[in-house]
Formats: sequence, C-alpha cells, structure tokens
Amino acid sequence: MLVDKYGRTFNTLRVSLTNVCNLFCNYCTDQPATEKAVIHKSNVLYTNEYIKIIKGLHLKLNLETVRLTGGEPLLYKDISNLIEEIREIGIKKVKLTTNAVFLKEKAVSLKNAGLSSINVSLDSLDPESFFIISKRRNLKKILEGIDHALAIGIPVKLNTVVMKGMNTDQILPLLEFARERSISIRFLEVMKMGHLHNSYHELYFSREEILEKIGEQHQFIPMDREHGATATYWITDKKQVFGIIANESHPFCGDCNRLRLDSYGNIYGCLSNDNGISIKDHSDDPLKLEYSLKQALSQKQEIQFAGSVMSMRYIGG
Ligand code: SAM
Repeated sequence: MLVDKYGRTFNTLRVSLTNVCNLFCNYCTDQPATEKAVIHKSNVLYTNEYIKIIKGLHLKLNLETVRLTGGEPLLYKDISNLIEEIREIGIKKVKLTTNAVFLKEKAVSLKNAGLSSINVSLDSLDPESFFIISKRRNLKKILEGIDHALAIGIPVKLNTVVMKGMNTDQILPLLEFARERSISIRFLEVMKMGHLHNSYHELYFSREEILEKIGEQHQFIPMDREHGATATYWITDKKQVFGIIANESHPFCGDCNRLRLDSYGNIYGCLSNDNGISIKDHSDDPLKLEYSLKQALSQKQEIQFAGSVMSMRYIGG
C-alpha cells in the first residue's frame, strides 16, 4: 500500500471536471464575468479518458470516494454517464460539489446515475451580497435546486466561505436555513489560493470569529473530529450540527487522504502544490503510475497549509 511516513495515503479522489465556471466568485477569480461559460473541448478529458484514469487509480488505491468538482461540474455535459461508469468500476461513493445553478434540471438524472450526495456552495441568502460575491443573479434557481435535490432524496450539505465585509451577516441566516431543512452546513475560512494568495487576509474571518458570531444566538459544544475529515463539528443546544473548515487557523494536513485530478489528466497530492503530475498517458501502466503517485504523496505538507497561486477551480475545491 502507498503510504507516507505520517501514515497518510490516498483514498479520496477529487476530480476537477472542468476549470470553467458559470459563477465568478471573488475567492476563485478576479476576472470580469463573461457572458457565457463555455467549455473548450481541448481543455477537458472525454468520459472514456476520465474512466481510464480513475480505473487505473482505483486499482492502485482502492478508492472509497470520488468527488466530482471543478470549475462547475454540472457544465460537463456527460456527467451522469460518467457517474454511472465510475460506480461500475466498483467505487461505492460518488459525490458532487456544485454551485447548484443547474441542479434542479439535472438532479433526477444524477440520482439515477448513482450519485451518493451533494455539497452545495452557498455563500449568501441575500440576493445583493450573493451577486457581489458571484457576479450572477442565480440565487433563486440555486435554492430551488437544493430543495428539489432534497425532495427526491439526495443528501445535501452546504458549504459557505465566510468573508469579512462580504457575508459575515449571513452566518446565522444560513445556519437557520440548514436547520429548517435538517441538513449539515460547514463554514470555511477563506484560503490563500489563486489571486488571493497574498491578499487573503483582507477577507479572512477566522474560525474563532465564526464561533463568536454563532454564539450570539446559540450555545454549542465541540464534537470529536473524524480521521481525515476537513471539518471540525459542533452541536448546538437545539441539536443542530455545524462544521468549520479552518484550513488557515487549524490546518488538517496531518491526516489528509485526498488526491486531486485536473481536467488535463494531471494529479496533485496537495492543494498547496501546483506542480501537476501528468498521468494521462500511463494510468494503465502500474509501475509508472505508482511512481507518479509516490511523487504526488511527497507533495503533501507536513502540518501547515501553505496555499498556492493556482485557483481552486483548476484542482477541484
Ligand atoms: N463550482 C463548484 C462549487 O461552487 O461548489 C465547485 C468548485 S468551487 C472551486 C468549490 C468550492 O471551493 C467553492 O465553492 C468554495 O467553497 C471553495 N473555494 C474555492 N476557493 C476558495 C478559497 N480561496 N478559499 C476558501 N474556499 C475556496
């Protein structure tokens, strides 16, 4: 088994199906919003190419979970077939991280394909601050998508990046939104990724500040952290569970089990390392693949998240 000196291995694969997104969130990009989000064929792999790579990785790693992300994974037209074929490889959990703009229309086909669960990125319930963050007016569609997915029985979790001066007033409303639907919500500290690599502190709102804000209305106690989990969880006196992903103040590199694959066929062992290792042409060669995986494993940070100049949408948030 492939394992490093800290006992870390890879059992979760995150696949950025495309680096294109239909939202222009300020933590992912500082580029002006374009009219239409278009995927150029030369910038993504075909389903059979993804399947070949994932199969090769599964043979080596016995993957528990594949999470499809991006960019925006629902822009990848063949996503339902891809999910079905990943399940056929024998990988039990296929999950999705999405902005949910196209969730309402795709939820049934995703469920039928065997999708296990969805993480929806939702940074605000207020149309104006949602627009300021994402440069789009899609909030209503997103909320309908969440409720539709829940109605047809797909488990949904929410992820909210909390940013100073942008949406800290949304922490309590979003917590209530999650409680009303009995779904889990995780608040994220902004990370030093992409164009924010050197300026993230301007938006940074710490785990302690998030807890303080929640403490204005709720009492809560910490829960045990699961091995390899990105979030630490708390439970309120009303029995609502919420999580915080505090990559900056409380990094969780020590037991990170994630491997990332981008839409060009490069793997990455760590969010803090933007040196992709191409496996597109040798994912079916066990020896060469093992060598590449060892390289990726050696990219993992010891304890501290260092960030990267590469935006998360290239390597899968
Ligand atoms: N488009 C999909 C979505 O919106 O969920 C998937 C990709 S997007 C990169 C996934 C998530 O990564 C974002 O919603 C956000 O939660 C997180 N993310 C990206 N850049 C981030 C940053 N600099 N700091 C914190 N979170 C970030």
